[in-house]
Amino acid sequence: MAPKLSHFESVDAMVARLKPGYPVYCLRPHELERAAKTYLELFPGRVLYAVKCNPHIEVLRTLYRAGLRHFDTASLAEIALIRENFPQADCYFMHPVKARSAILSAHEVFNVDHYVIDHAAELEKLVDVTGGGDGQVCLVRLVTPQHDALYKLSEKFGAGADEAVDLLKRVDAAGFQTGLAFHVGSQCRTPDAFRDAIELVGRVIERAGVPLHYLDVGGGFPAAYVGDEPQPLDAYMDAIRDGLRAIKLRGDCVVMCEPGRGLVAGAMSLVVQVQLRKSGAVYINDGVYHSLSETMTAGVKLPMRLIRPNAPIAHDLASFSVYGPTCDCTDVLPYQVELPADVREGDWIEIGQVGAYSNAMTTRFNGFSPETFVTVGDPPLTPAAVARAHGAASPDAREAAHAEPADAGAA
Ligand SMILES: *Cc1c(COP(=O)(O)O)cnc(C)c1O
Repeated sequence: MAPKLSHFESVDAMVARLKPGYPVYCLRPHELERAAKTYLELFPGRVLYAVKCNPHIEVLRTLYRAGLRHFDTASLAEIALIRENFPQADCYFMHPVKARSAILSAHEVFNVDHYVIDHAAELEKLVDVTGGGDGQVCLVRLVTPQHDALYKLSEKFGAGADEAVDLLKRVDAAGFQTGLAFHVGSQCRTPDAFRDAIELVGRVIERAGVPLHYLDVGGGFPAAYVGDEPQPLDAYMDAIRDGLRAIKLRGDCVVMCEPGRGLVAGAMSLVVQVQLRKSGAVYINDGVYHSLSETMTAGVKLPMRLIRPNAPIAHDLASFSVYGPTCDCTDVLPYQVELPADVREGDWIEIGQVGAYSNAMTTRFNGFSPETFVTVGDPPLTPAAVARAHGAASPDAREAAHAEPADAGAA
């Protein structure tokens, strides 16, 4: 069993104590537990956690402690991670493209019985390896109408409506329990995307004329980034309920969702240290090849707060280029960051909203590999919280803080 993480009352207490020259992930278990309970309470069905988003064991343990028992897994390693740590939990193999050997191990070693496909050839694999039938569930991944989201997952995966009708019939004929699944795209800003996708589901099942046992509405629930404050989770749940009310589902159809980002993003921040200050630039010890790759790949802007224990911080803010630790010139955040104008070597910066797709995506490039985790008691570091923190020092920023919408985090 992995040892428990060191706990600190606050991020500032951790910095004062460790004075870390390495990046430190600061997990907020209380916040993660609260977010998990919110999803479990509000979603009209079964909540699966998308493990790829943040597979750290303490994240998984906290979600389990909060009552989450279902996990969306996409590889054998993820399945093993869940099965070995939580024998009572269920794994769902939700990757539409799987190695035959992975299907075999999932089926025979780990007793997984929910699989996703989006093509007839993948169904054939599943039938070849598992024999089909016998309580197995096969969900067909459906392409959904395009809305405003950071990643357009329907470009890579999913069957069109006609193909999905055909696949559903084949899945039923092969003796599986049937399902439909979709993903509206990560950091989806429009709750109506879910309603529209469910409407499409209604048309597909009507045409297929087979009983539907599972409907999986996927992930895509948003987190609070700078300049990208989401609508509350309630709006998404309302859109899903509206969608469900408008279609004909069997009474025993299991409805599922698979939140990743919206569930965990707010529950972790990252403390980095400034290694060098030049006039318009700071060099920190984490970057786009490590915890901050989504600033590049998804264009997310992360809230950042300066920490300088026992010394005053300048009141005025300035814009900085923020460089990561590797020797690669592309290791730089793709936008300017507002920080106190006197930021200097040895200061720390707390970067908020990194619970999703940060530690999960780091490389070991150039010998850097952030791997220190602690737990802290602070509330989430949201964009509004940063505006307040820097605003406390600066009258200008205080006005900016007032202009910013209140914390509306989905998580
Ligand atoms: C990545 C993924 C999720 C989680 O998506 P978020 O946008 O992080 O909520 C859910 N389901 C599937 C199939 C995924 O690939």
